[in-house]
Amino acid sequence: MKKTNISILLSLLFSFMLVAQSNNTYLIKAGKVFNSEKGVFVKNQQILVQGKIIKKIGANIKVDKRTKIIDLSGYTVLPGLIDSHTHILEQFAMNKNNTAGTLENIFTKDDAYRALRSVGLLKSYLTSGFTTIKDVGNSGKFLDVSLKRAVKDGLIKGPRIIAAGPIMSSVGGQFPGILSEYDFIPATEYRIIKSPDDARFAVREHINYGVDVIKICADNSPNNTALTYDEIKAIVETAHRFNKKVSAHATKTLSITDALNAGIDGIDHGYGISDELLKVMAQKGTYLIPTDYHVAPIGIKYHALNGWTKQRTNKLKKKLNHRLNFAINNNVKIAFGADIYVDFKVPRGDAAKNVFNAYLDAGASANQILQYATYNAADFLGYKNKLGIIKSGAT
Ligand SMILES: [Zn+2]
Repeated sequence: MKKTNISILLSLLFSFMLVAQSNNTYLIKAGKVFNSEKGVFVKNQQILVQGKIIKKIGANIKVDKRTKIIDLSGYTVLPGLIDSHTHILEQFAMNKNNTAGTLENIFTKDDAYRALRSVGLLKSYLTSGFTTIKDVGNSGKFLDVSLKRAVKDGLIKGPRIIAAGPIMSSVGGQFPGILSEYDFIPATEYRIIKSPDDARFAVREHINYGVDVIKICADNSPNNTALTYDEIKAIVETAHRFNKKVSAHATKTLSITDALNAGIDGIDHGYGISDELLKVMAQKGTYLIPTDYHVAPIGIKYHALNGWTKQRTNKLKKKLNHRLNFAINNNVKIAFGADIYVDFKVPRGDAAKNVFNAYLDAGASANQILQYATYNAADFLGYKNKLGIIKSGAT
């Protein structure tokens, strides 16, 4: 299964999510269905859907006359895709680097503008086949929670949003070298953690304001500070007590080690991770979310515009491909996350799918990638057997 097959499959997956929108009963006759649990395609399957719930799947399901038949026997049906690393309230122009892009977002776009801009972005995820996104911050003061409610209440069309609220970070957020008189600026986008006690309080605050998960910057690269082990531990313990999962932006050995020892559920990026730490992740069952858009075709174009040489890109590609390949071959759990926040002049959902190419280049098969973006992502987010799967009881 290589590139051509995966693009054909992805272009055929929309019908399933479109039917699950009323209380009627439907029978979908599928030419093939992706069994995301096993990572295989099964031929000639029928799926009985009532309202938003899958009732049954099998080769031959008896139904009464009132059941609407949807004939997709010439097509392949996939579970809705899940992107486990989005920034729906942030958008950079192609010619803006990270710091300039974030500052422009904060200084020139108010909350209403950011939320309205998200409406189109959310729709694009849906039309690209993503029915769930995990939004991991840079979302002002809980604007992601508001968007989640707007989708749920039917005010706007979009994928289900799993919201993290402001990222919990060490001093400075992800603004390298900001002057002390401007330290209120990072606090508009991040929850700056000052001690383990403050960390415990911050988690309870976030839960009170309606988040579903917690996102931290274990290290806040490109800034050079990091949360302490005690702060990460306090966040993870408190979040787990309230049944919330925690994932960490972590790119350096020390912060990845601290996050793993503190019992983190997922490592986002992990760009600088060693083979040894990947083995620890496999042992602990910690998820890796390889946000490798930097070395996908769209990301390479973006970095070239911002002055990256071919050598720099190739060096990064070699490093990221090695880590993802090592993770795959050593049974590290992987959940798909694209980390798209640049306006690549294509629908945002399509830009997210472009990152599948980076996974393919690193040695993942098409079936594995689909698993990472369905079954595994659902497990990582705490929705095993509910999302990312076509089976009885799933939605
Ligand atoms: Zn990100």
